[in-house]
Amino acid sequence: MSQFWSPAVRALTPYVPGEQPRERLIKLNTNENPYPPSPAIEQVLQAFAVGHLRRYPDPESLALREALAKTHGVEPEQVFVGNGSDEVLALAFQAFFCQPKPLLMPAISYSFYPVYCKLYDIHYRTVALDDRWQIALKAFDADNGGVVFANPNAPTGHGHPRQAVAQLLERIIESVVLVDEAYVDFGGESVVPLIADYPNLLVAGTLSKGRSLAGLRVGYAIGSRELIEGLERVKNSFNSYPIDMLASEVAIASLEDESHFKACCEQVIATRERTRQQLEAMAFEVLPSQTNFLFVRHPRHSGASLFSGLRERGILVRHFNKDGLSDFLRISIGTDDEMGSLVEALQAIL
Ligand code: PMP
Repeated sequence: MSQFWSPAVRALTPYVPGEQPRERLIKLNTNENPYPPSPAIEQVLQAFAVGHLRRYPDPESLALREALAKTHGVEPEQVFVGNGSDEVLALAFQAFFCQPKPLLMPAISYSFYPVYCKLYDIHYRTVALDDRWQIALKAFDADNGGVVFANPNAPTGHGHPRQAVAQLLERIIESVVLVDEAYVDFGGESVVPLIADYPNLLVAGTLSKGRSLAGLRVGYAIGSRELIEGLERVKNSFNSYPIDMLASEVAIASLEDESHFKACCEQVIATRERTRQQLEAMAFEVLPSQTNFLFVRHPRHSGASLFSGLRERGILVRHFNKDGLSDFLRISIGTDDEMGSLVEALQAIL
């Protein structure tokens, strides 16, 4: 605490990201992709004219927005970009959810959402998950100041099909519905095609997970022109240049290499399902996952004891000590070798 902080800053409880350890650990705690990004990026970086860095980048990020628009079958005016989807989400909360009515979100979802609410003084209400740990879309009341959820959800891993989200959008027409698709590349069904029918739908996405570019910090949102314009108003009141020149070129090269992206995601999915079987054979309960992580618990071992047992064996996973989640571990999908080490370590602990 400092006397110099504004009163609002004193009251904040910032989000705590998963640890980025300095030692060499098998790192399965922040849902990074275990495979490198497109090899085409190497050439882009080598060919980059360093002298260009003298100038500011394009404040509109038009080339990147065009590439994303092409990838997702929309117009560039329906695409917004930012420094990671965390930034895009933060700007969206400010642009759409500072409303008299409360924002609705699942009781268990990305833990950054309540942090943004505190930052912007947004009143919110949570909706309990159903008894299968799935987001209860039907329980979202139509009278609200906005809706946000991750689909597939984190840290639980379940994704609703597009049709289920369309049903929600049939009921909720007066506020913005923000669907965070950070993990959609690992078997989820994107709701981007619904944007043509629902002007209040905003879809957030990232290059951090499926495209192995967490270090680059490029995220985006896709929605109707009016929603994108709302985001631009906030962004242009905050930071004119969230995407630097290098990030833009690297992101475009990644978007142009569909086959590398698809192959890496398929590999992650195959490893995930093999790991599921191995964990189930060890009596773990493994929630269905359409993401690059598994959410698991063991009937006889606490989440905390498994977490520390793995840590002692050089394996880092994520343990959430809250919200009825403390029995679970969230395990990111690594390479086959890394997951082999995980299974061996768990066998030793059990
Ligand atoms: N949404 C969800 C559900 C996430 O888990 C994450 C990653 N922590 C993000 C958004 C943000 O990802 P990024 O800022 O790297 O795009």
